[in-house]
Amino acid sequence: MARDGITEAGRSDVVVVGAGAAGLYAALVAAREAAQVTLVSRSPLAESASYWAQGGIAAALAEDDSAELHLEDTMKAERGATRESAARVLCEDAPARVHDLQRLGVRFDADRSGALALGLEGGHSRRRVAHAGGAATGRRITRDLSALAAQHPKIEVLELTTASSLWVVDGRCVGVLAEPAQGTSRPLLARAVVLATGGAAALWERTTNPRGATGVGMTLAHAVGAKLADVEFMQFHPTALVRPGEEHDGFLITEAVRGEGATLITAGGERFVNELAPRDEVALAIEHRLREGDEVLIDMREIDLARFPNIVSALEAAGFDPATRPVPVAPAAHYTMGGVATDLEGRSSLPGLYAVGECGCNGLHGANRLASNSLAECFVFGHRAARAALDEPEPPANDPPPPAPGPPAIPSVETRQALWRLAGLERDADGLTRLLNDPFPLARLVGRSALEREESRGAHQRSDHPATDPSLDEKHLLVSAGDAAHGWERWG
Ligand SMILES: Cc1cc2nc3c(=O)[nH]c(=O)nc-3n(C[C@H](O)[C@H](O)[C@H](O)COP(=O)(O)OP(=O)(O)OC[C@H]3O[C@@H](n4cnc5c(N)ncnc54)[C@H](O)[C@@H]3O)c2cc1C
Repeated sequence: MARDGITEAGRSDVVVVGAGAAGLYAALVAAREAAQVTLVSRSPLAESASYWAQGGIAAALAEDDSAELHLEDTMKAERGATRESAARVLCEDAPARVHDLQRLGVRFDADRSGALALGLEGGHSRRRVAHAGGAATGRRITRDLSALAAQHPKIEVLELTTASSLWVVDGRCVGVLAEPAQGTSRPLLARAVVLATGGAAALWERTTNPRGATGVGMTLAHAVGAKLADVEFMQFHPTALVRPGEEHDGFLITEAVRGEGATLITAGGERFVNELAPRDEVALAIEHRLREGDEVLIDMREIDLARFPNIVSALEAAGFDPATRPVPVAPAAHYTMGGVATDLEGRSSLPGLYAVGECGCNGLHGANRLASNSLAECFVFGHRAARAALDEPEPPANDPPPPAPGPPAIPSVETRQALWRLAGLERDADGLTRLLNDPFPLARLVGRSALEREESRGAHQRSDHPATDPSLDEKHLLVSAGDAAHGWERWG
């Protein structure tokens, strides 16, 4: 039964929320299986993190590489917190997903012999990063996949439409309430909902992410009782442009640039860190230099800048010529390792609700995501979730009463400043306790989880607990409904 201001419920097999890499691909995979899909996207294309992705997709495609080596590097970077089974699935399936993207029409950069040109990035022991358009990988992929989704007869695309709450009936997620920017709200019923709403890095004041990356999926899922995991693990990218108060502040300078030989130096020209060490190490080394009052710069003068045209043009727009002068950089919040807790098929703890890409957490990234494993995750787990979702039962035949819209998930400037200050690269109990009073629910959950993890591990550095606690190896902190409900689980 429709309610005032709400139309009759739409019906499809799967509702996918979010049109970044994970959502677009999940929608296409489900449609390929002959499912009817509704794809709900709040933002225009250019505002997904996927569109902004630079480096590429990690996949063991080179002759001297293997899924085993990729797994070894992943486990090494991720500081004893990786769920090995999830990492293994990623490393084994990523090459097939790259080939599938090629079949769908994505053109990755090739070398002179026509083979895939694979980049080297921090923490990888082999060249294994497939890229497109130099450092415009995300732009190319989202452009190509969006065009396919828009034309697909089995996919209905609802653009500029927000999923404002999840529809739960008798303990199952059966759909969403979709609110277009203009017009009437529309309840959508389906066998399953796949959340692909991206990460939460824009909750922090200094970020590489688009403004909308505020953990919407986590907020929606938590509101209906689905478990979240690893919320304390926010990855800080080491090299984001410093241009305080200006549009380009936080612009990401990809790791691939360091893979090609760019160095990190102080204003005095001193190198102080292995530029290809895992991200947590490089970010912390830079942070310490900055605290000592040094300036940190990335020196790209010796590398082939022709490979990175979009970085050069963004830096030029910000007033820098990287060919002649090193560029100031500092860490910024970049990637959300935590998210809606899922199994290896993207299933959350709430039947019928799935989460993939950056909004999900299957434990794969541990405490420190390895560079370019996240796009790979979008495709590997987007594929698995889309197929698993089709096995869910039909939604109720008679339209149950639709849900009310949830509160808008827009953090205030004060919340963003508080997270940067109190839950930044180094945290302590005093600061985190102050976060527990923040008006934004997800900020409180970050504070609570970061307080519970009384150790330092990867991206989570506690100045009051500087050592890693081996008893927490492979342990993930689960958050259930209610701010205070936390519990540890070991994921193998
Ligand atoms: C600058 C930058 C460079 C990066 N480079 C790389 C790289 O080289 N390699 C790599 O592996 N990773 C990289 N990453 C990380 C990677 O891009 C992301 O992890 C990945 O793209 C996330 O994809 P996603 O589909 O999960 O989410 P997103 O791409 O963020 O898409 C989320 C979508 O959900 C929509 N949405 C959110 N809430 C709602 C709602 N309530 N209703 C409807 N729609 C909603 C958004 O509008 C958006 O369309 C980079 C990230 C950034 C920011």
